[in-house]
Amino acid sequence: MTAVTQSDSTILIIDDNADTIRLLSAMVRGQARVLFATNGAAGIDIARLQRPQLILLDVEMAGMDGFAVCDVIRRDPALRSSAIIFVTAQSSPEAEIACLDAGAVDFIPKPLNAAVVQARVRTHLRLQAALATLDGLAHQDGLTGLFNRRHFDSQLATEFARHRRHGMPLGLALVDVDHFKLYNDQYGHQQGDACLKAVAGAIREGARRPGELAARYGGEEFVVLLPNTRREELLTYGDWLCSRVTMLDLPHPTAPTAPAVTISVGLCSMLPAEGDTPEALLHKADMALYEAKAAGRNRGVVAGPD
Ligand SMILES: [Mg+2]
Repeated sequence: MTAVTQSDSTILIIDDNADTIRLLSAMVRGQARVLFATNGAAGIDIARLQRPQLILLDVEMAGMDGFAVCDVIRRDPALRSSAIIFVTAQSSPEAEIACLDAGAVDFIPKPLNAAVVQARVRTHLRLQAALATLDGLAHQDGLTGLFNRRHFDSQLATEFARHRRHGMPLGLALVDVDHFKLYNDQYGHQQGDACLKAVAGAIREGARRPGELAARYGGEEFVVLLPNTRREELLTYGDWLCSRVTMLDLPHPTAPTAPAVTISVGLCSMLPAEGDTPEALLHKADMALYEAKAAGRNRGVVAGPD
């Protein structure tokens, strides 16, 4: 395995012929970082570790051939985002169709032609970059750049199951901007959007733990998922988030709470047991948020240990 760093993209060449690897590497090394493997099993291992955007896969290999490698890669959810281009001396239409049917995105004929190889690789690296961008956007809230509700819901389900398996406490904070309707009435929706962006920024930059996930939950509501976090660790976190937003110092003269934008935070931590659901965790946080509002806003309230 070798590496030539040229861009953010990685190409993996799997071929049982060292000369072909040398030739292909020389052709594409200006376009991406290049890795290689001389047999299918090693190639699959490298693909799992390095997640290349593109795999140039020799069809005719001793032992595990290109089709068998392609089949393993296409079935592995972790490798789904790697695109495969077959490289083969079989240039009949039937052979080409067989490659595409196997799940490859394209086909490069041997003997190799530098211009053809570079054009195909360039096209598919661009497509891969575009797909990655779309994939990111699908999980993002357009206004604030935080994760969106859909992504949060799926991560909550995953993390809830993982914390139950490992017997770890899962923390959650529900954040609501205080008197946001009054803010919009005073300043208009455009300024309201700017306020939400600023609050989202304060929440995002307040992330302190590995794996913490902040999302826009709805209108002026945000949510933070806090992996492996005990109730005691949440006691200061809510008020700390409130202080971060207060420090933004966004004027809100018509708010009864304070003359600046503030938030209320409902927090809870749960050691998920058999039969517990993510909805129960959300419900507890929501009740705590209600308490924070009732107690005068601009504060965090942690749900009881029960
Ligand atoms: Mg070969």
